Amino acid sequence: MASPLNRRLFLTGSVGAAAALGLAACGNTGGGEPEAAEVDPSSFAEGSTMAALAEAGKITIGTKFDQPLFGQAGPDGTPVGFDVEIGKILAGALGIEAGNIEWVETVSANREPFIENGQVDLVVATYTINDTRKEVVDFAGPYYVAGQALMVLVDNEDITGEDSLAGKKVASVEGSTPAQYILDNHPDAELVNFDTYSNCVTALINGQVDVVTTDNVILAGFVESDPDNLKLVNDGETFTEEPYGVGLAKGDDDFRTFLNDTLEAAYEDGSWAEAWESTAGVVLPTPEPPAVDRY
Ligand code: GLU
Repeated sequence: MASPLNRRLFLTGSVGAAAALGLAACGNTGGGEPEAAEVDPSSFAEGSTMAALAEAGKITIGTKFDQPLFGQAGPDGTPVGFDVEIGKILAGALGIEAGNIEWVETVSANREPFIENGQVDLVVATYTINDTRKEVVDFAGPYYVAGQALMVLVDNEDITGEDSLAGKKVASVEGSTPAQYILDNHPDAELVNFDTYSNCVTALINGQVDVVTTDNVILAGFVESDPDNLKLVNDGETFTEEPYGVGLAKGDDDFRTFLNDTLEAAYEDGSWAEAWESTAGVVLPTPEPPAVDRY
């Protein structure tokens, strides 16, 4: 469903914002490192994931490494973006400093397996909460709500919305909800799956595909990085809801409650807004934080 808010959201890009984003992409982590709280590991229930992580003093978090605004590897390889800042807030509540977070690149398709195999403790990676995924992992949050949109080359005139996808080569990412949406709703479009969104963008620029589809805010990051070549269709009109959650091992209810409590505290104390404003908020307006869903 297109929302006027989302339409407005994408008219705010400017040369100034693009320049500021360039700085952010060059390794500025924004508002500085969130301070890790002084946390006594024994304050957590014995045997809990929180106690184990706090005791270890480190945590492994999966995120994207190629998505401007949310998770993009900086010059030293450490990712920056809103998801990264959310990860730091969650780690900080366990007393773990940002420097003791091990960042692992997760692409869309390997997020559930990485959680299930224990390769990561958490995934914060533009990760939509849905029932299919909840069969194998759990989610804290949502901490943001995006929506699926379309991106084309600046001179494209014939793709004007999801109703004009018939016969078009539509790029998206394997294992993502936008790819599934195209399969389910637009069988007359030719879905071309890649492993990452940056590879979709390369294919669009090279003329291998006609359009890229994923969440509006991911596409907005790519447009801001290359406004001479890329544009959003219909000012970033959205046609799905993509509530972003923090993925964790299925059945770890105490950890999920802790993560939800921490997100709510970050809404209250301003650290969520600060995380937004220092990253994605350079380009996009600050939204209201969504209510967490303690399903
Ligand atoms: N939010 C959607 C998803 O989780 C698309 C973005 C992504 O693939 O990371 O599938």
